[in-house]
Amino acid sequence: MSSHWKPVEANLAEKLNDFVLSDIGDNTKAICTKPKIKCAVKPVTPAIFHSSTYEIDSIDGYLKIIQEDGYLYSRLGNPTCQAVEATMSVLEGAYGSLTFNTGMAAVSSVLFSILKSGDHVICQNPVYSGTYKLLTTYFRRLNVSVTFVGAGSPVEEWASHIKPETKLLFGETLCNPDLSILDLKAFGQLGKEKEILTVVDATFTSPILLKPLKYGIDIVIHSATKYLGGHSDLLAGIASTINQELWSELQLTRSEFGTCLSPHDASLLLRSLTTLPLRMKQHSSNAMSVAKYLESRKDKISAVYYPGLESNEGHQIAKEQMENGYSGMIAFEMKNGLEAARSLVESVKVISLGVSLGGVDSLISHPATMTHGPMIMNDEERKKARVTPGLIRLR
Ligand SMILES: *Cc1c(COP(=O)(O)O)cnc(C)c1O
Repeated sequence: MSSHWKPVEANLAEKLNDFVLSDIGDNTKAICTKPKIKCAVKPVTPAIFHSSTYEIDSIDGYLKIIQEDGYLYSRLGNPTCQAVEATMSVLEGAYGSLTFNTGMAAVSSVLFSILKSGDHVICQNPVYSGTYKLLTTYFRRLNVSVTFVGAGSPVEEWASHIKPETKLLFGETLCNPDLSILDLKAFGQLGKEKEILTVVDATFTSPILLKPLKYGIDIVIHSATKYLGGHSDLLAGIASTINQELWSELQLTRSEFGTCLSPHDASLLLRSLTTLPLRMKQHSSNAMSVAKYLESRKDKISAVYYPGLESNEGHQIAKEQMENGYSGMIAFEMKNGLEAARSLVESVKVISLGVSLGGVDSLISHPATMTHGPMIMNDEERKKARVTPGLIRLR
């Protein structure tokens, strides 16, 4: 039914009519993008449309709405969610974006729109633990096979695992939890060359620091729960694409799976997007100072992983593909392993011990027992994912 629907058109506030979108910086885009939604009043901040359903004039009117992307039922499209989608499309340089109720809803909906039984996926390892579990449990159960390649490997390594049935290359950059970097230009090129779709989870950077679609990536996903939401008070996900067909497929999947965002959370998210550029720059400069300090503590710390450090393996690629900073995520390795890691995370002040990231508050976590702990993977899998007992993640 909705295969011919289109993303809501994004343009700048009327007053900025003289400007062309491409001439304007992210700060202005994040604040001034207005979706083309018919509304009797002109609120400066888009209204929260609670309604689950919409009144139509007649039976002919119903058919007309279907043909013209109007509003029928909020699972198919909601003006408040579309305001977020329009802003994200402008920031990402996308054909269209879609909001989801969580980051995992975005990941699972994207995977379900693309994959069918018999297909093969190549994914990096480590990758977000939920994505790992989804691929190794649910998709394997549906006869989708998965090959993992070490995160930060050159694309030649990815290429060496491609088979005729390979349908999707799934990357994440910066990678969770070790912050390794994927060369997006080479990754996008590989996908195009082999006619395989590329998907990148860019939760750790946000479009302010990295715009994967610019490098030929087909779909970029964010857990908007993190930096986009930015205040640890909502769950949401977003997927953006340059491909019209993929957008339509994904919109249909979201409608049928019911993985849509609530208008209330969309409104919180919309408010957060206005400060995203400022927050990302500050997170990045704070993290750079902390990373440098940690690097100077060679007495206790054996390695610091932060893409902004010149000592970092992926620094050169990060420097080429990231803008405005290197994000607020740091990982580091305690010399004395688990003992030292436990002692540190349990004794920090101001910073809280907890999972998640991207809020204005600082959090510290111990991946080997928390996000990549026994509930998600066994010892051997943890070793392969390079999640060591002394690894700490700070943001
Ligand atoms: C948190 C996270 C997700 C999942 O997002 P939820 O909003 O918690 O469902 C996916 N990918 C990355 C990289 C994340 O950090």
